[in-house]
Amino acid sequence: MAELVRDGLEVLMVVAVGGMLAAAVARLRRGEVRVYRCATCRRPTSRGYPRCRHCGADQPDAS
Ligand SMILES: [Zn+2]
Repeated sequence: MAELVRDGLEVLMVVAVGGMLAAAVARLRRGEVRVYRCATCRRPTSRGYPRCRHCGADQPDAS
């Protein structure tokens, strides 16, 4: 019985990880995950930060 539970959890994990990967690939295919580039130095930076981590310029459309 314990083995059955362990196998069940394993399957759930695989399904969950596979689902996340599939969702990430689907987002990439739709082009929603795009590299955000600094408005000043054009280097890839994170939209999560209000300032570029390369040149420190304010990012006008940072979320
Ligand atoms: Zn920059």
